[in-house]
Amino acid sequence: MAPPLHPLIDHGITKGSPSFLGGKLCCHCQNDAVEVTISGNVAHNHACGCSKCWKPKGALFSIVAVIPRDQLNVTANGDKLHIVDKGATIQRNACKECGVHLFGRIEKEHAFKGLDFVHVELSKQQGWQEPQFAAFVSSIIEQGFDPRGMDEVRTKFKSLGLETYDTLSPPLMDAIATWTAQKAGLLPSD
Ligand SMILES: [Zn+2]
Ligand SMILES: [Zn+2]
Repeated sequence: MAPPLHPLIDHGITKGSPSFLGGKLCCHCQNDAVEVTISGNVAHNHACGCSKCWKPKGALFSIVAVIPRDQLNVTANGDKLHIVDKGATIQRNACKECGVHLFGRIEKEHAFKGLDFVHVELSKQQGWQEPQFAAFVSSIIEQGFDPRGMDEVRTKFKSLGLETYDTLSPPLMDAIATWTAQKAGLLPSD
């Protein structure tokens, strides 16, 4: 029996809809929930085993995706947001009351600047892109997961059709390396 990875994947993956136009994400507060509106579907949705991404109680992984920052707007109770760690590359904007992360934003120069990181499980709407792969899988050990259980974790992801990586997926790692080479003048900028 594999340990619970995340409620969105433990019982099989529901495919998203290519024609989905976006929706609202809400934090877990019963009253005055922080609301973020996203116009468009997310991309690169994936399970992440790092210690920084927000995940629901009991889950080993977060589910996190990206959306261009100009397609994300805070539409209610934004005064409850605070940045979890101002020194981190991704500034995670969380609700001060319930702790849920509404969006992560990169302000410094970085290959992914211009993209916000979001958790579509905070939405009631259906049609968001489904998880595509699992990233930073080995990082769950750093948070206390027994390394002897890693085979089960990786096998479970593969049984769901998700490839597992200990960094990001090859296309995302290639994008970061390309940006770095462009900055160094070793590749033409596009
Ligand atoms: Zn909240
Ligand atoms: Zn993460």
